[in-house]
Amino acid sequence: MYATQPGTGSTSLAEEKAAVLDIHSVQVRYGENLVLDSLTLNVHRGEIYALLGANGAGKTTTLNVLLGFVKPSAGSVRINGVDPVSHPDQARQNVAYIPENVSLYGHLSARENIAYFLDLAEQSEDDQLITCALDTAGLDRAMHDRRVGRFSKGMRQKVAIALALAREVPVLLLDEPASGLDPRATAELNSLLSRLREQHVAVLMVTHDLLSAADIADRVGFLDAGRLVEEVAADGSERFDVRALHRRFAGQTA
Ligand code: ATP
Repeated sequence: MYATQPGTGSTSLAEEKAAVLDIHSVQVRYGENLVLDSLTLNVHRGEIYALLGANGAGKTTTLNVLLGFVKPSAGSVRINGVDPVSHPDQARQNVAYIPENVSLYGHLSARENIAYFLDLAEQSEDDQLITCALDTAGLDRAMHDRRVGRFSKGMRQKVAIALALAREVPVLLLDEPASGLDPRATAELNSLLSRLREQHVAVLMVTHDLLSAADIADRVGFLDAGRLVEEVAADGSERFDVRALHRRFAGQTA
């Protein structure tokens, strides 16, 4: 039921194969510090991409470039064909961003938070759509109308993902999504991300957490000092050789 193209409600085969998130030869500098160095990365519809990197590798900067908060000194970025540098508002209409710590209005219920943010995005606050999004995100019905002030991190994340579902965005960006989640909440998050994959959403998560990335990602990219040094695609039933990935990552972060 969730379209990947706001307003159109359908995707053609050609669109499914297209990279909906496209970063090409991007450079970002903070003064003398080259933080993103010819970064090229793309994520397709229905793909979950995990960008792994040590502290300071440039993961947050990559998200900030995609959100139009940081302007590259070279290269190009497109989100669903829109340049977030020249058209940040239009680009953000195509993206949901879920930070490590989701902030919601604690005195409002889950449903009211979603209605409020949909209103800000000038989208219809249809009650049934909100219920359906919260159901799909796995938030218990009994919690839909409870104030979110006391919600756990996992529950807040579900509300944020429900908002992304209700907005029908083609791109979801997640910053350290599994950090601070217990194993059950992590499993729920992963099954929710799988569902988004089925809905043809392109998901980019940035993380230090190799194991949770290997559980769910279709491709894993290693970012080191602003460069994408390696990409590995899931293959077969084992998906990834986690030990080899770990050796690779530990070598990079040592
Ligand atoms: P972490 O995992 O620690 O969050 P990261 O991979 O997200 O790290 P970034 O936050 O993107 O890394 O930072 C990349 C580099 O850019 C670091 O060297 C950081 O110090 C630098 N940096 C980030 N933001 C700024 C800024 N606003 N001004 C100057 N330097 C910055």
